[in-house]
Formats: sequence, C-alpha cells, structure tokens
Amino acid sequence: MTTTPETMDFKNFQIAMPYTLTAGHAVGSFLAELAHQRIIGARCAKCDTVRVPAQDFCGDCGGESNEFVVVPPTGTLTAWTVTDQGIIGLIALDGTSVPLLHQVITATPSDLQVGMRVKATWAAEPVGAMMDLAGFVSAPDAPVAQVEPAVDLSSPIEQLDYRMELDYEHAYGHFYGTLFDGIKNSRRIRGVRCPSCRNVLLPPRPMCEACYVPTGDWIDLPDTGIVQACSVVHIEFVGQRIPPPYVYAEIVLEGSSTRLIHTVGGLSAEEARSGAVRPGTRVKAVWSDRRTGGLSDIDYFEVVADHE
Ligand SMILES: [Zn+2]
Ligand SMILES: [Zn+2]
Repeated sequence: MTTTPETMDFKNFQIAMPYTLTAGHAVGSFLAELAHQRIIGARCAKCDTVRVPAQDFCGDCGGESNEFVVVPPTGTLTAWTVTDQGIIGLIALDGTSVPLLHQVITATPSDLQVGMRVKATWAAEPVGAMMDLAGFVSAPDAPVAQVEPAVDLSSPIEQLDYRMELDYEHAYGHFYGTLFDGIKNSRRIRGVRCPSCRNVLLPPRPMCEACYVPTGDWIDLPDTGIVQACSVVHIEFVGQRIPPPYVYAEIVLEGSSTRLIHTVGGLSAEEARSGAVRPGTRVKAVWSDRRTGGLSDIDYFEVVADHE
C-alpha cells in the first residue's frame, strides 16, 4: 500500500445569491421617507387600525390600507430580546395598533423595562433602507404624540438590491482529501484500485460501487487521457467562466476506469465548433499557476498528437 500524505480536511466555500426585491407601493413609500427621518404608517379603511411599516393591506381584516400617516418617532418598549448582534425590541409607536420590530440601542440592557419610553435615532447617511432608522434609544421624557396625515410623500422605492452570502466548509474526508492534497502539492492525480474487479476509480472512494467491497491500493495516474464523450457549449449563462464556444468533455485518464469532467481548451472558436475534439482524441492536462487543491488547478486539457 502506498503511503498517503497528510490530507486536506476542509475547504472553505461560499454560495452567493444576488437578487432584487420589489418593495410594493406602501413599503416603498415607507423606505423612501426614512431618508427624510419620517416614519410612514398606513390606516385601514375598514377597521381603522394603524400599522407601521405602511402596508398595502390590513393584516387584521384584509381591508385596503390606502391612507398613509406620519407616525411619531416616539413610543413604548413592549418586549425585547438580547442577541449576539444587539437587542431586538417590539416598540409600540405612539398612535399605532401593531408594534414595530426593531433594534434597541443601549449600553446597559439591564436598564430596559417594559413600558419605558423610547425614541428613534437615525443613521448619519441614509441609503433608502430599513437601517436608515438606526434604532430606538431611551427617552424617559418623550411626550405621547399622535399620527398625522402624510402629505408630500416621496416617490416609493421600487426595487432593492439584496445579496445573500452563505459561507460553509466542505469536509473532504480521507479519499477526496488525499486526491486534492496530491494535486495541490505535487500535481499527482491519485485513484484507488478495487481488489475485486481491478478497476481504478477516480475520484478515489472507499467502496467500489460495482462490487460493494472496500477499495485497496492507491494508484498514481498520468495527466494524459482519452476523450470519451464531448459537447461544444454555445450558450451563455450566468456564472459562466469561459466565453463560448468551448468544449466540455468526459476524459478517461490512462489507467483509470472512470471518467472525469473537464474542458478541452487551447482551441480557436473555429476549431471548437468544427469538431477538433471527438471521442478518442488524446488530451493532456494544462496545469494552472494556482494551487488551490481541486480539479480547477487544471486550467483545461489540450489536444495532443496520437504518437506523443
Ligand atoms: Zn383592517
Ligand atoms: Zn470493483
């Protein structure tokens, strides 16, 4: 059995999802007015409740909430919870029927009390988002105020850009870890042999899925192989790393019994289109200057002549 080097245990990855959100008329107006330090609510035409942020429809009776009002920046703290990222409170703003969920800013959480008076505090530079209203601070002397009719409202913010980012670690385990460690440190591509069917499996794995037996020896594979199947990609799509046309291929490395998926490159657009790569074409890996420990350390496979 070949000795195995220390393996790469984990690799950090990120899924990023940029998207846009349409705020709607009421919430769009609420967000736009935060930049002017005004809090906009909506009164239900049917049941007369006032809710903030302004909503197009009443959450209680489903009635249309087409009357916008300016809500005072003062209110009463009705509940709160302490989190890693600060204190989240329910604030009953004066003249409203439903408490607003928002940040409570205080140096000493132990000073908070149900029923305490609070007032809004504003971001130094508004950006047209919820956090233009930075949060609520203690205001023991703030008098109780009333809602007022909203006049001269700004145009609603129609669309918001969001970006969700999820960081995670992928655990490779012994077999993938050994493969990627070899690729990173010594440009070795390593598979494992099944003791029963003698197939060499790449990527390496603990069991042969044909024979259901544990795999055995580690086998070094060359970075040359044969194209088993291929297709020419002509369409463009989000996240594409190579401008089309390019060749996507199933490649069987010499001595391997399984195929890996990679691109065949170093071709002109005309060569890619005209079938310069076909089943049976011999190819060789072109290694990148990057050493990340993955198959992307191979930039692409290039076509080599049969006699090489
Ligand atoms: Zn209602
Ligand atoms: Zn087997």
